[in-house]
Amino acid sequence: MMRFHPWVFSGAIKKMSEKPAEGQLVDVVSNEGSFLGKGHYQPSSISVRILSFQQEEIDLSFWKRRILNAWNVRKACHLTDSPETNVFRLVHGEGDDLPGLIADYYNGLLVTQMHSAGMYLEREILAQAFKEVLGDRLLAIYDKSEGALPYNAPVKAVNGFILGSCGELTAKEYGKLFRIDYAEGQKTGFFIDQRENRRLMQQMALDREVLNMFCYTGGFSVFALQGGAKLVHSVDSSKQAIDLTRQNILLNFGEESRHEAFATDAFDFLRQADKKYDLIILDPPAFAKHTDALRNALQGYKKLNARAIEAIRPGGIIFTFSCSQVVSRDAFRKAVFSGAAAAGRSVRILYQLSQPEDHPVNIYHPEGEYLKGLVLYVE
Ligand code: SAH
Repeated sequence: MMRFHPWVFSGAIKKMSEKPAEGQLVDVVSNEGSFLGKGHYQPSSISVRILSFQQEEIDLSFWKRRILNAWNVRKACHLTDSPETNVFRLVHGEGDDLPGLIADYYNGLLVTQMHSAGMYLEREILAQAFKEVLGDRLLAIYDKSEGALPYNAPVKAVNGFILGSCGELTAKEYGKLFRIDYAEGQKTGFFIDQRENRRLMQQMALDREVLNMFCYTGGFSVFALQGGAKLVHSVDSSKQAIDLTRQNILLNFGEESRHEAFATDAFDFLRQADKKYDLIILDPPAFAKHTDALRNALQGYKKLNARAIEAIRPGGIIFTFSCSQVVSRDAFRKAVFSGAAAAGRSVRILYQLSQPEDHPVNIYHPEGEYLKGLVLYVE
């Protein structure tokens, strides 16, 4: 029985008829010689990323079909025609049967990230395919693969427009405006994956004093203010992130006396935060990018959560997340449990959160589920 997992690990390859170049399209065949799939070759532990399990041409028409499928998923979720949201992830790698490709849509601008040499080599034909599928809903494509390709890839990516161009950009999420710093910002410029979690948090923010740790563009801060929070403190170690947060608050609320932003280390800030807040958001960067860093990452989550659980006021609410792909939902929950036990307080789980519908998980590729969150009530 075929399991349709899109990765072929190096250990599973018995022999290669010739040594392919990095990024080359290759066929994968069984021991008996029957066709299994075709995809991009990469000389690493994941040797082939399968694009198709059928014997078909990987040409403009193929890319268009895949992109149209992805568009139709977002359309079915009412993301493509929403009057209040014009930012969504259009292509989520394996989740859209396009391993190695990320494409985020920001109010007419598409920001792409290619995570394999194979995808990067296809960028021009991909740009063409996006243009034909999206039509006049697409103004420009900015490719941001420079930091995304494997460090030893033979092709060196340079960030820049691969279709059209655009200047400063503002996009809308649930009616709130955000400056998208696609060129200089982290990832593609905005953490779209927290959209539904920010919305849930908004509903719980009324009259609360909120601490938004690892705030980046201030997404959670904007929605906390929108939800009627009494006060919101935003913390990020990056000065650039704090500037963006301030801009976004200004854009939506003008001068806002309920908000203050701090460019400082989250762990330091938490040390002096005793009983000052009754809603805390912990959305740190991935503590572990690889399995060998897993132990330290779990210790990191435990420490961070222990400290927040200790510090929060009685009756407080914590939104705590992990976006590390290698940390399983179960392992994350155990780390938070250890943190709660270390803090010695009574903690209930109110919600278990994940990534939204525009970050779909291919059922044959469980690794695609990376965002995990818990909403805690601390007595
Ligand atoms: N919650 C954000 C996304 C967070 S991304 C959103 O909704 O958009 C993680 C952020 O953590 C980055 O902006 C990074 O600059 C910040 N960061 C990393 N290490 C940090 C530390 N030790 N203290 C404070 N911020 C940190």
